[in-house]
Amino acid sequence: MDPTPTPITIPSAARPADADLRTSYRIVRTPQIGELTGMIISHEIYGCETHYHRGRTRPHTEPICEACDEGLGKRWQGFLAILLTKTRDLALFEFTAAAAAPLVEYYEHNRGLEGAVIRAYRTTAKANARVVIRIERGDTDLFHCPPPPDVATLLARIWGVDRLIQHEQHRAELARQNRDGNPQPGGPDRP
Ligand SMILES: [Zn+2]
Repeated sequence: MDPTPTPITIPSAARPADADLRTSYRIVRTPQIGELTGMIISHEIYGCETHYHRGRTRPHTEPICEACDEGLGKRWQGFLAILLTKTRDLALFEFTAAAAAPLVEYYEHNRGLEGAVIRAYRTTAKANARVVIRIERGDTDLFHCPPPPDVATLLARIWGVDRLIQHEQHRAELARQNRDGNPQPGGPDRP
């Protein structure tokens, strides 16, 4: 047997693994003042109904939804992965149905949103002023653009969807037991 011990080395790389390079997508909205500009990375919009429930946004779930059961309204929200022009940061751009028309039209006309340049601003500086979205074909080639992320997965992480689904499953199970007239010990659902 060779008595020479294996030399210890330090593996190195000029760039981190892709998964580590861009870990924290944050949600960005149209600013109150000024404008948001970026390049769209997503192929299409990811949208879902959401509630503002107990101080935070949550997705509407089916067939059971605690926010609906509490009588809260829901509204559609759309999301796109974008590369912010100023900071070169990746972000999820959030927008409402009222502002989505230019994006929908562009998608239908061009069969995809990736590579398009987006500008979003408000008509006045007042809170909740109308959002205007402008979109045009970008001349930036997509070569330098990261691959499109799975927006649903990113949102699931941000919203804590695993726990939410567990919670709703638990509520569904309690509802089923109550319906069957066979309540289990352990009392009512936690608030
Ligand atoms: Zn709901």
